[in-house]
Amino acid sequence: MDYKKELSAFFKENCLLDEPMDRHTTYRAGGPAEVYVYPKTREEWSFVLKLARTENIPLRIIGFGSNILVGGKGLSGITCSTKRMNLAAVKGNRLVAEAGVALDKVCEMSVEAGLGGMEKLSGIPGSIGGAVYMNAGAFGQETFDCLEYVEAIDFEGRPAVLLKKDLPHAYRHVQGIENYIILGAGFLLEKKDFAELTEARHLVQHKRIEKQPLDLPSAGSVFKRPAGDYASRLIDEAGLRGLSIGGAKVSEKHAGFIVNFNHATPEDIKNLIEEVRRQVKEKYGIELELEQILWGEFGA
Ligand SMILES: Cc1cc2nc3c(=O)[nH]c(=O)nc-3n(C[C@H](O)[C@H](O)[C@H](O)COP(=O)(O)OP(=O)(O)OC[C@H]3O[C@@H](n4cnc5c(N)ncnc54)[C@H](O)[C@@H]3O)c2cc1C
Repeated sequence: MDYKKELSAFFKENCLLDEPMDRHTTYRAGGPAEVYVYPKTREEWSFVLKLARTENIPLRIIGFGSNILVGGKGLSGITCSTKRMNLAAVKGNRLVAEAGVALDKVCEMSVEAGLGGMEKLSGIPGSIGGAVYMNAGAFGQETFDCLEYVEAIDFEGRPAVLLKKDLPHAYRHVQGIENYIILGAGFLLEKKDFAELTEARHLVQHKRIEKQPLDLPSAGSVFKRPAGDYASRLIDEAGLRGLSIGGAKVSEKHAGFIVNFNHATPEDIKNLIEEVRRQVKEKYGIELELEQILWGEFGA
């Protein structure tokens, strides 16, 4: 049996074939995934991992697709969504969440429980898995600040509990995390005043509405912050605010974002990324490093 049929038979309604990735990415762009599945249980993960390994099929893990640009020619192999892994609970000073829980939901839960340490991550539109993978952060807080452990499996299907000290991390980078599928994470938080936490959460929510182009599809900041500076400042000063290619545009509201303002193709977005990079390099000699992740094949 071919692997698509095997996955369809096993996952039933939780397996989609030729699934357009504009449905699963916040850029609202991207060609089809050959196979798109929603594993939840250990048994389901074991099945998909074993099949990918024995048949030598590429395998990708997607959270909420809020940091990914998928090429117009799409994704070969298997793309696994964590969306069905959606349990979270507060236990004393600890918060435990499965990979597919929204980071913002976890922030809300922590604030409601009077636990501090994640409130400034409010509004980041990713999953727990994506937040751990990226060490997502905002307003001086990072996912790894309060992270205690990650529950994972490797691509051979072996379970692992990774402690924070096992995962060297820095700004938007976690060393070795690409060798694992993140199943969930535990956070150790600090008792704090409920009113103060609520205020901090509201403050960052307002700052996001005020500063970010949340009315248009994007995947947040395109580039990492260069040392001692901001990518958005360089892009703005280079006169690139509002620059467009096809349906993609450097946001007029926040020059660090590229927005899909009019049915942009992934290639429009990628070409605009390259143009911004080229002009910043030419004007300032600074090579902007991508924060967003490019997946699959892009057309001309
Ligand atoms: C409007 C907007 C604002 C944003 N603001 C911020 C911000 O303030 N700070 C910030 O850091 N980011 C920000 N982002 C970017 C993005 O939300 C974060 O990077 C987020 O952590 C990505 O999570 P995700 O679930 O969408 O991951 P995805 O985009 O789905 O995946 C990102 C990477 O993580 C991997 N991954 C995801 N889940 C797993 C898993 N379970 N196991 C193994 N690997 C996995 C994927 O394979 C991929 O390599 C913003 C995005 C948008 C659209």
